[in-house]
Amino acid sequence: MEKRILDPHSYAYIFNELDPFITMVFVLIKPEAVYIIDTYCGSEYMAEIMADIENELKGKKLYVINTHFHWDHVWGNPYFEQTPIIAHYLCGTLMEESWETDLSEEGQHFKGEKRLVKPTVLIEDAGSWENEDIYIFHTPGHTRDGLSVLDKKSDFLYVGDNLERPIIQIYENNLDVYTDTLNKYVQMNPKQIHAGHSLAITLTEIEETIQYIDALKTGKPLELGDSFCQEIHESNQRYAAAEE
Ligand SMILES: [Zn+2]
Repeated sequence: MEKRILDPHSYAYIFNELDPFITMVFVLIKPEAVYIIDTYCGSEYMAEIMADIENELKGKKLYVINTHFHWDHVWGNPYFEQTPIIAHYLCGTLMEESWETDLSEEGQHFKGEKRLVKPTVLIEDAGSWENEDIYIFHTPGHTRDGLSVLDKKSDFLYVGDNLERPIIQIYENNLDVYTDTLNKYVQMNPKQIHAGHSLAITLTEIEETIQYIDALKTGKPLELGDSFCQEIHESNQRYAAAEE
């Protein structure tokens, strides 16, 4: 685990066990509360982070946010059994549906208590959760339960897996909805954009992602010239063409 200080009150904890992907857990330290964005692959990883921020947590409320249901973003939830966990209302159901398959396919990455702990504070379709410091809103795309988090003080936006370098991963036939979400990010024009597996995404990269989705909509074959990207692209094509 590596800690990257994005600004004095915003940290990225970077994990590299899921090579070739890096995976982030973000921690936002606010005057009244501390926010943890995603819980990576288990409570043992979360214990390391919580030990690191022990002093900054004193006397503050704690909130956890699951940006979406994928295992590499929620398996650390058991650490936060007593903490409000904010997510889209479908997140818990989708976690349940994929729990057994994910454990059998990816279980070697699990570090800690193997238990399914579902979110407790639920956001509706097109809904949001807000206080003085933080705005959390529904941003379907990579998955239908996607949430994004805007830190209103730093003007940093956290987008889960809706943006990813070098290529996004699509799991649903929802390209128009995905484009709407990305256009929303462009309009917000935040100071920094951070994603679940990529730091410091630029507006240009969002525009390129929108163009990529537009190309997918045409259904024409696309040569990406790189075998890793090509493989993900072909999976994206299959999902994008799937029956709803
Ligand atoms: Zn994901």
